[in-house]
Amino acid sequence: MPEGHTIHRLAAALGELYGGQRLRASSPQGRFSAGAQRVDGQVLLGAQAHGKHLFLPFGPEAGMPLEEEAVTWLRIHLGLYGSWTFDGDREFTAPHAIGAPRRRVGERGEHALSGGGGSALAGLSGGQDHDGRPTAPAPDDWQPPDPRGAVRLRLQGEHGVADLTGPAACEVLDGRGVAAVRRRLGPDPLRADGDPQVFVEAARSRRRAIAELLMDQAVIAGAGNIFRAEVLFRVGVAPLRPGNRISQARLRAIWEDLVPLMDYGVATGFITTVDPRDVPDQPVPGDQEARRWYVYHRTGRPCLRCGTAVREQDLAGRRLFWCPACQAH
Ligand SMILES: [Zn+2]
Repeated sequence: MPEGHTIHRLAAALGELYGGQRLRASSPQGRFSAGAQRVDGQVLLGAQAHGKHLFLPFGPEAGMPLEEEAVTWLRIHLGLYGSWTFDGDREFTAPHAIGAPRRRVGERGEHALSGGGGSALAGLSGGQDHDGRPTAPAPDDWQPPDPRGAVRLRLQGEHGVADLTGPAACEVLDGRGVAAVRRRLGPDPLRADGDPQVFVEAARSRRRAIAELLMDQAVIAGAGNIFRAEVLFRVGVAPLRPGNRISQARLRAIWEDLVPLMDYGVATGFITTVDPRDVPDQPVPGDQEARRWYVYHRTGRPCLRCGTAVREQDLAGRRLFWCPACQAH
């Protein structure tokens, strides 16, 4: 399942591609025809994410406040199988959404950025190759492609289409409905309104393991399996320690480390958590992950800081990875 940074990346891309434009909305597959009709011909007023939920507000006129009654929202959750596919002419670009990272965490382990990063953003190349030459057709030469597969929702603007397939949820909500969904979610480290103290108090009031709490969207929204393993390593917290037995300062440190890690994920499309000084000088055969992650998918491999074998166990149905020496307490 995409982690929260992918959804924020999608929101940024959709906002850049379509914000302020009047769109055609349809459901080529038919399962969302009535919903698509509600926003067809309306203006996309913005795009935002909270955790793994994407919210798209539509209104009759550009620039109208999101609080107005006339605003209709789409809520989309990709779940395990959902994805967006983009196609358009050379004007159909989202340069900022796929732009250069603001902070390079694992410089030496960095991947080439291609295709907008991540399968949830297929086709969003920014319309140019690595040398800046346009690869997409000129506006007069572009036609919307036939929908491929079961497209639940197609959003079409003047210069391109975005096709949504296989989401776990795609529904129409009013402003109250959006607020109700958001109330059930914990704070999101990627949102300006994400309040670390709300996370700290939620974690401190629960007896479950911190590794489990970091995956609980009601405690903190958007972090997934990779971020939880990596942030616990970076902050040095034993993953099975109960939330109510971790100090406020350490919980706050978890939040404060997640913000730049996830921010980097939004900027690049990749999760890279290893500080350049900890990246092995030479690639280790069979251990490619060592160039980007400390413990995730590195079971039995030596910890990049202390050499102890990385441990793995199942926790609430998900694989958990940690270094028993660096994360002893
Ligand atoms: Zn270690």
